[in-house]
Amino acid sequence: MKLPKTILTSTKCVHSGTQIDENQGGVNTPIHTSTAFKYLEDYEMKYPRMANTSNQIAVVDKINALENAEKGLVFSSGLGAIAAALLGLLKPGDHMIVQSDIYGGTAHFMHHQLERIGVDISFVDIQNANNLKEALTESTKLIYVETPSNPLMKLTDLFMVAEFAKKHSLISFADNTFATPIFQQPINLGIDLVMHSGTKYFSGHSDIIFGYLGGNSALMELIKVAQVDLGSTLDARLCYEIERSMKTLHLRVERAAENALELASWLELNENVEKVYYPGLASYPQFELAKRQMHGGFGAMMSFRLKGAIDPIKFQKALQIICPAVSLGGVESLIGSPYLTSHKSISQAERDIMGISNQDVRFSVGIEDVEDLKNDLKQAFEA
Ligand SMILES: *Cc1c(COP(=O)(O)O)cnc(C)c1O
Repeated sequence: MKLPKTILTSTKCVHSGTQIDENQGGVNTPIHTSTAFKYLEDYEMKYPRMANTSNQIAVVDKINALENAEKGLVFSSGLGAIAAALLGLLKPGDHMIVQSDIYGGTAHFMHHQLERIGVDISFVDIQNANNLKEALTESTKLIYVETPSNPLMKLTDLFMVAEFAKKHSLISFADNTFATPIFQQPINLGIDLVMHSGTKYFSGHSDIIFGYLGGNSALMELIKVAQVDLGSTLDARLCYEIERSMKTLHLRVERAAENALELASWLELNENVEKVYYPGLASYPQFELAKRQMHGGFGAMMSFRLKGAIDPIKFQKALQIICPAVSLGGVESLIGSPYLTSHKSISQAERDIMGISNQDVRFSVGIEDVEDLKNDLKQAFEA
């Protein structure tokens, strides 16, 4: 569909990428399941692993529009996107600077796959810009960040990272899963590549796994070669469901972020809570940066530290609406202890360095009525 260039985010969520059904006049993109395509009349070879079939393109076009990416690709998981990008862009002997507090699965891939084939990696605390300069070597090719980070919602200054990358001819890469393009658009701040675990807010209903990567054409062409080789592609039927979910992305995340802000402000004053980590609070140490690089909301992920008298496990078991579960980004509120879930594989000593306590709980706020969520937390504190 030909859309005006001026359309805004909500309209992009609903309309971008949609391929009107020319055959029947239906308003949705038809599902084309073929994996074999006639070639004598067709110039471009089509095949799902080459990510060039119509349902894949519909999803990619929608996310490209939201992220302002020239070119994009969809993958069978978020990690599939990360793997294709880094294997497609780096070779043995190359060096990469990585934000130290990234998603555990990403760190695992870097240690077990990239370091094994001889990619050199420095994990640094990127909140201090001096650490970037110190980590730089003659072989540095790429800088990898994730903001807000998991589980303590630390922010990385995307504009600063993009400027640093440009100055030293590095590729800048941002995992934008927690923020979503509704609240943060890294490419508009100068970042080269943006990635999503679509499994979270894009799918939004805790029932589909997929990944997305977008950026400028030259880089995406290199990554596309790796995707075809690695085979991490996405099925047409799932693409259809994703396209459908994403039509309400803005409504879901805006409502969830409103709930999150209200709950964060409420929890901050609660006698059972020692500390709240949410970038939208005026008391948050990086609130100024949050306002500078996020807009329209601060996302729906937060963590809070329970006072010593509260047993985090008993507290979570007492909840009746908010479900203790891993993962995030669905319409339903989920809660979990990082030391038992996302950060289980690292040692207590490492968690201490990162500032993660066993009293911390990570909270993926859903779109339920905020009063019900408050009441649920209240009764669990009392229990
Ligand atoms: C879940 C997640 C990933 C990995 O995505 P999968 O879809 O599980 O492969 C990467 N980064 C972040 C921030 C995530 O939350």
